[in-house]
Amino acid sequence: MIIVMKPHASEKSIENVVKMIQDSGLSAHLSKGEEVTIIGIVGDKSKISNRNLEIAPEVDKLVQVTESYKLTNKKFHPTPSVVKVGNTEIGPDTLSIMAGPCAIESEEQLLTIAHAVKAAGATILRGGAYKPRTSPYSFQGLEEEGLRYMKEASSETGLATICEIISEESLNAAVKYVDMVQIGARNMQNFQLLREVGRSGLPVLLKRGMAATIEEWLNAAEYIMAEGNRNIVLCERGIRTYETSTRNTLDISAVPVLRAKSHLPVIIDPSHATGVRAYVAPLSKAAVAVGADGLMIEVHNNPACALSDGPQSLTCPQFEDLCQELKPYADLAGRAFR
Ligand code: PEP
Ligand code: MN
Repeated sequence: MIIVMKPHASEKSIENVVKMIQDSGLSAHLSKGEEVTIIGIVGDKSKISNRNLEIAPEVDKLVQVTESYKLTNKKFHPTPSVVKVGNTEIGPDTLSIMAGPCAIESEEQLLTIAHAVKAAGATILRGGAYKPRTSPYSFQGLEEEGLRYMKEASSETGLATICEIISEESLNAAVKYVDMVQIGARNMQNFQLLREVGRSGLPVLLKRGMAATIEEWLNAAEYIMAEGNRNIVLCERGIRTYETSTRNTLDISAVPVLRAKSHLPVIIDPSHATGVRAYVAPLSKAAVAVGADGLMIEVHNNPACALSDGPQSLTCPQFEDLCQELKPYADLAGRAFR
């Protein structure tokens, strides 16, 4: 349930409502707009009297939130959230470009790609150190050594960094080296891991599970937020359908749907969505046009020899061209390109 305060309600009245909620053993979540403050209640609502809340000073109305996700719900927080990642921000005014290799393969490979994507306009370097591969015999990542190269690449280029984590152990390592952690499609409903990243406080990129509905996805984000971590960005990366010409099917409609349901930033990963290098540019443009807050793109200095996802990786010059082509789209969308 949310309590909508009257426009310009006093601090005293807001505090009074918060206290009523807390005294009933529930938690209160404040969203302060320019005029109106909204107070969300999470927990067993039977513990509190609606009538007492309704007649409290400067309460305008009570609104039931019927969806199972609350903190991630737009009703709890009507304005779009901005998530700070290292020295940059992801939100409604910018187009944030995350780029880098699928897997970190060596110090030299990562530094080469980091310099190239930085020069092209990316602000966040991606790179997998713990790879959740379909086959146990495929390259599984350099683990902590890879994370060290990420830190080095960040110091050399000034890029913020993101790495996927797949376990508590990898999370504990990642917090020492990177600015944001990624929960991959395969772990979107690993609830224990979601709680742990929630407690870590680090910004989280939560990818959509390959067969997850938007409601399940928002509930996964709710697990993270319920631990007190509000720094979540959602990433649409394609879902499983009957279509086989692409690796997955990009659900472009997820962007406006999420916009209507949640305040969290949404980015698109056209690389994993398509699995095909040639389709990355057109879908990147579509992503910006549909209102995405950013893109995550796989880039490799030598895709033919990549240890993971070479066929969908752009070369460094292709990535540079794409960034140039995206600028007018970003302008039209009213977003600063960074
Ligand atoms: C990745 O980004 O490296 C990755 C494995 O993506 P996904 O979880 O979307 O498959
Ligand atoms: Mn990949």
